[in-house]
Amino acid sequence: MKKEPFVTLEQVKEIAAQYPTPFYVYDEKGIRENVKALKEAFSWNKGYKEFFAVKATPNPYLVNILQEYGCGCDCSSMTELMFAKAVNCQPGDVMFSSNDTPDVEFKYCDEIGGIINLDDITHIDHVEKTLGKIPKTISCRYNPGGVFTIANNIMDNPGDAKYGMTTEQIFEAFRILKEKGAEEFGIHAFLVSNTITNEYYPMLAKLMFELAVKLQQETGAHIKFVNLSGGIGIPYRPTDTPNDIKIIGEGVRKAFEEVLVPAGMGDVAIYTELGRYMMGPYGAVVTQAIHEKHIHKEYIGVDACAVNLMRPAMYGAYHHITVLGKEDAECDHKYDVTGSLCENNDKFAIDRMLPKIDMGDYLVIHDAGAHGYAMGYNYNGKLKCAEILLKEDGSYQLIRRAETPADYFRTFDCFPIYEKLIQK
Ligand SMILES: *Cc1c(COP(=O)(O)O)cnc(C)c1O
Repeated sequence: MKKEPFVTLEQVKEIAAQYPTPFYVYDEKGIRENVKALKEAFSWNKGYKEFFAVKATPNPYLVNILQEYGCGCDCSSMTELMFAKAVNCQPGDVMFSSNDTPDVEFKYCDEIGGIINLDDITHIDHVEKTLGKIPKTISCRYNPGGVFTIANNIMDNPGDAKYGMTTEQIFEAFRILKEKGAEEFGIHAFLVSNTITNEYYPMLAKLMFELAVKLQQETGAHIKFVNLSGGIGIPYRPTDTPNDIKIIGEGVRKAFEEVLVPAGMGDVAIYTELGRYMMGPYGAVVTQAIHEKHIHKEYIGVDACAVNLMRPAMYGAYHHITVLGKEDAECDHKYDVTGSLCENNDKFAIDRMLPKIDMGDYLVIHDAGAHGYAMGYNYNGKLKCAEILLKEDGSYQLIRRAETPADYFRTFDCFPIYEKLIQK
C-alpha cells in the first residue's frame, strides 16, 4: 500500500513559518474516523469501552478528541493518573494497568475512581493496607506463560514477560479478593505488541473468555469485563497489510458467542487499551534537511534527532519517510537519514531509497503518533519539539509548545547556577 502523508507541502510551509521544524503534526480527521470505526466494530457489545493507553500520546488535546467518543484512559503511573484527572475522567473512566506499583499510586487511583488492575497477587495486601479496603470493582492481569503463537509466525513469549499472574495465582487472587469484599471483577492480558494480523484479538479473546468462565464457575466471582488491552498494530511499512478493525471486532464477537454466551455470561463487557492503533498513523514528525554529507555512504542530516523519535534508534524500527513535494519522484538515491546526536544509532533510516534530497526539503516521518513524542528524552541537551494539531477544516493549532533551555535546566531552579544557565 502506498503510504501518503496527511499533510501537504503547502500546509507544512505555512506551519513552519510560525513554528520552526522539527515538529509533530497530528491528523484530527484521521483520529476521529479511526475511533468511530473502532466503536462501530465493537458496537455489538453493550459495555464496550476503549481506555486509551495514555503513555502512547500523552497530550490532553488529543485525548479530549477520543473522549468525545466515550474513551477513557489507561494509566500506569502517578503523572498519568494526574493527567486523566485533569482531562476530567470520571469514576470508571480510568484503568490503572500498572506494574511494580508504589502504594501511593494505588491510593490516588482509588481516589479518582480508577479501576485498579493488579499486576501481581502480592499487590492485594498493598492495596488493602493502603486503601484500608479492597475496592468493589477490581481487575487482575493474567500471564499464561509459554509462547503465544498466532498464524503466520507472529508470536511472543509471555513466559519471559514480567507482567501478570500465573493461572494458579489468578484463581487464588479471585478467591482472596472476593472474600475481602470485591464484587465486580475484570481480567486483563497483553501478550503481543504491534500485531498486524486480524487474528490476535480473537485468539486472545477466546483464551480470556475461557478463563473467565472457569474463574466465575470455580470462584463464584462475577466477571464484569474482559480487558483485551493493547497490541493491535499498524502498517509501518508499505508492504504491511493494515488490520481490519471490523473483522477483528467480528472475530471477538464469534469467540464471545461461542464461549461466554453459552455460559450465561453474555453481560460481560469488552474493554480495550489501545495506544498505537488509536494514534500511530495520525501523527508524523516534520523535519527539514539541513546537511548532506558524502563520505563512505551518503548522509542526509535533518533537524530532528532520536530525541524527537526514538523508535528507529532504540528498536531499529522502520518509519516510512516522504520527501514533501517529491511524492511522485523516483526513489533512485540511497541515503542514511540522520539526526545530530553524538550516537551513531541516531538514524531515522539506513540505506533508504528516496528521491534526490535537496537542502531545505521537508521530510515527513510517518506513523509517529504513538510511542513517538512520548518516548522522547533530552540526551545531548536536545530539546523536545512542538506538537501541532491539523484540524479537520485544514487549519492548525499548537497543542504543545517546544521546550526551551529554561525547561531543560528547570531542575536546577532551586540552585544559584540556574540564572546563569538560562542566560544566552
Ligand atoms: C503500552 C500498553 C498499552 C498500549 O499498547 P499499544 O501497543 O500501544 O496498543 C496498553 N496497555 C498496557 C498495560 C500497556 O502497557
